Parts: sequence; structure tokens; C-alpha cells
Amino acid sequence: MIEKQEQKKVVALLSGGLDSTLAVKTIQKQGFEVSAVAIKTPFCDFDCGRGCGFEIRERAENLGVDLKTVYLGDEYIEMLKNPKHGYGSGMNPCIDCRAMMFEAGKKHMEEIGAEFIISGEVLGQRPMSQFAPALKKIEKLSGLEGKIVRPLSAALLPATDPEKNGLIKRKDLGMIRGRSRKEQLRMAKDFGIEDPPNAGGGCLLTDPAFSLRANDLFKHIETPTTNDIDLLKIGRHFRLDENTKLIVGRNENENEMIKALALPNDILLEAKEHVGPIVMLRGQTGDKYIEFSASVTLRYSDAPKNKIGVVTVHKNEDVEVAIKSAEESSYTKLRI
Ligand code: SF4
Repeated sequence: MIEKQEQKKVVALLSGGLDSTLAVKTIQKQGFEVSAVAIKTPFCDFDCGRGCGFEIRERAENLGVDLKTVYLGDEYIEMLKNPKHGYGSGMNPCIDCRAMMFEAGKKHMEEIGAEFIISGEVLGQRPMSQFAPALKKIEKLSGLEGKIVRPLSAALLPATDPEKNGLIKRKDLGMIRGRSRKEQLRMAKDFGIEDPPNAGGGCLLTDPAFSLRANDLFKHIETPTTNDIDLLKIGRHFRLDENTKLIVGRNENENEMIKALALPNDILLEAKEHVGPIVMLRGQTGDKYIEFSASVTLRYSDAPKNKIGVVTVHKNEDVEVAIKSAEESSYTKLRI
């Protein structure tokens, strides 16, 4: 263990994944006091019911670092409408996204008087944001030129300010490049990390199916709300017209979430006598589609096909509609 350097402070962007965990360990080993920042956006799986928010707190606790969580909400949605550096293979604006994350880290750095900021980025690991020119660009965009240290790959990258000032030494920094996790797993073993975590909190914007739905949303609504985005994470989505969508729950959990996300103008439908989905009709022209939506609702329920069934429509008042279940061909073409 290298002797402690009077506990100078460093901020870490912590995702909860193995790479950022190892970055923290590497810098702690060199005697720095690390303070972590976890960034949440409307598109991460963090706290989405899979317990990532809990996991990240647990990870910070195990690392012995304090944790600040920053939520990038409206400003993130605004950026996503037109990211200056474009999208990756999905709707992921990785360069602008990372720049925003580092900016948030920079604020924390200034607040606590930290020397520099670290992240678990690995050179060449991710196509859009982790190649050398992108790393450089992110530093510039976030106003952190020379201040970002990527401990896992830093010995392959240009010297940063802390290296030039002698705070850190190249020989203590990693030379990991590419997508293989072999070296990270070896390091995890050396650090005694049992059960090493996978990649950090998943980003829905890299998911092709989610990206299609997000793209459709941004095409039809100038500034979507976090409620619109939360709805994208669940159910089957159908575009009925420019202004109207139908969302069909796929299980009990999603049915509950659809109910919880329903706003006063949304129309909810459910089969009256059969087990089935909660269906939401959202948009300015919803009324026009009540019969069609009722037939789709019945189709996705346990009701026998091609028979008349009753669907309850929850609007201002509850109304019952007797209808035949929809033909598959009438709605599959509308699926987003
Ligand atoms: S994968 Fe998602 S969270 Fe990660 S940098 Fe790209 S847009 Fe941001």
C-alpha cells in the first residue's frame, strides 16, 4: 500500500458497476479520500424497481465513500431533443450525456474542494463515448480539461493535471483497453471484491426497442414529461394517430404502474369479466378510439376470441362497452 498523501479529496462518478468500483479502489489505494456522485437520468434503470439505487448505495458503503445522487431530469430531456454530438446506435446521446454527468461531478468537486475527478471509463470499451477523441471532447465540454482521470486506462492516455503535478503516478495507473473484462476481473480478485458487479446501471437509450418508442415520443411531443418517459418503460405501445397512443399492460405489475401514471385526461380500460390488461388511451383524440381500444383490451384478456365481451371504460364516469375482440391485423401494424 502506497503511503497516504494527507487525504486529498477526489470525486468519483459511480455507476455501481465493476469499472467505477475498481477506479475508486485504485485511487483509494493511492491515499485519496473519495467522494462519489451517482447520476440518475429519466432513462436509467437505477431505482426502476430492480434495486439499482439500493445497489449503488450499498456499493458506496462497501467502498467507504460518501454518496451524492444527482438527478438530471428536464435538462436531460431538453438535451435529448437535439444532442450536439448526435446519437449512438440507439437514441443514446453518449457524448453530451457524459459531459452533463461530468459537469454535475465538477460542481461537487468545487463544493468539497476536490483535486480531480475519476470515472471507470475504459479506453475503447464503448463505441461512442470511450474512444480517445470522445474522451477529450467530453473533458472540454464539461470544462474539466486535464482534471478527469480514468484510472483503469490512464497510463494509455495523455497525462492529466494531477499526474503533471505529481499527485498521481503513471506507474500506479491502469492500461486497460477494449471490451474484455478479463483484467477487471483479475483486479477485482486482487482487491478482494467478492461477486464482482456487472456493468453499471443499464441505460434504456441503448436498448433498440426502447429507442424506437422514445424516438416516436420525441417526434410527436415537443417536450415529453418524465411521466411520458416512465410510461415508455412499460407495456406494449401502439400509435393510433399523431396525437394519440394506446398502452397495454403486460402483467399485473405493469397494470398497476399504468394506473399510477394515469393523468386526469387519460382513459383507462379493462375487461369486465375476464382477467386481462389495464389499457391506457392517452392523447387529444382519445374519445375517437374508445371502441377500437375496447376491442384491443378484450383481445389481450382471457375472454374467448370472436365473442362479444364487456369492457369497462374509466373516464370521468365509468362506461361499459359490449364489443367483439379485435382482429390481430387491426392493431399489430400500429405497434411501436
Ligand atoms: S449509455 Fe446512456 S447513460 Fe451511458 S453515456 Fe450513453 S446515454 Fe449516457
